[in-house]
Amino acid sequence: MRALIKHHAGPELKFVDRPKPTPGPRDVLIRVTHAGICGTDRHIWEWDEWSAGRIPVGIITGHEFVGVIEGVGSAVTKYKPGLRVSAEGHTTQGLDYNARTGNAHIASDTRIIGIDRDGCFADYVCVPEENVWPVHPTIPDKVAAVFDPLGNAVHTVMAADVSAKSVLISGVGIIGLMAVTVAKAAGASRIFCTDINPPRLALAKKLGAVEAYDARNGNGWIKEVRQACRGEGVDVLLEMSGAESAFDQGFRALRNGGTAALLGLPAKRVTFDFNENIIFKGCKVLGINGRKMFQTWYQMEELLLSGRLELDEIITHQFPLEDFKTAFETMISGKGIKVVLQMG
Ligand SMILES: [Zn+2]
Repeated sequence: MRALIKHHAGPELKFVDRPKPTPGPRDVLIRVTHAGICGTDRHIWEWDEWSAGRIPVGIITGHEFVGVIEGVGSAVTKYKPGLRVSAEGHTTQGLDYNARTGNAHIASDTRIIGIDRDGCFADYVCVPEENVWPVHPTIPDKVAAVFDPLGNAVHTVMAADVSAKSVLISGVGIIGLMAVTVAKAAGASRIFCTDINPPRLALAKKLGAVEAYDARNGNGWIKEVRQACRGEGVDVLLEMSGAESAFDQGFRALRNGGTAALLGLPAKRVTFDFNENIIFKGCKVLGINGRKMFQTWYQMEELLLSGRLELDEIITHQFPLEDFKTAFETMISGKGIKVVLQMG
């Protein structure tokens, strides 16, 4: 089969021929039809410090996909060949404290496809049966291919409980833009956004943000947002940028007793005023990792079926697998937002 692998401890990926995988007894073999390129794949492509410390050379990359079941292991009970499916990319044995108490997404033994084990930038991928997610027939392939990041956005928005609340989303990259449409669909009253990319700020407004501020233009916007929210600040902060300055600005815009959900990953350790921004503020801070298995998936499906999510302008490009170089270039340059590879 065709596969995109991390062929050396350095930049880029290589297009190679690999044997088709054989599913273990409890695994499902899926013929991949579409796969999303993630910010994580960009890190792996560029071979930054994080990738160098985490990604095994030789691994098949990619973790966001949709496809069709081609074969099942001998102990698989529920699914059969022919079914269109996506899958949760975080796998666990399911035996630790969190896995056994409804929080498998933060299990201590989590291994992720395309990061710790072979992924989906290939014609076929194997995943455990319990990770399989049957795709509702009305959901298009390009949307099902990006359930993974959309699930990140849904998990963040739901964890922060945005209904009838004012929300600040700092960072409107792929997941931040998804969070705008998800927060709107989930009943956020007013959504404010910040970023340093004017076209994405414009798109955030189109998707439902009442104001979108360029964070490079000083801190005046913080006062404006606080004023717009009874002079006290927003109820909820969804931090999606990982930028050091965004943490400080975002918490300053948050009201006392508000909730901050943090998804963006800082590239290095950051300096942060805990006293003013968290302790005296009495706010609640949530770390967001992955998607809840499988509560987030059910919520995401319901939001999609509501017809209220606007993803067409976020999923901007699709390329055949062979054109992966153009696909990565389109994503890295910022010309495209969410880029999907087509295997079919
Ligand atoms: Zn991803």
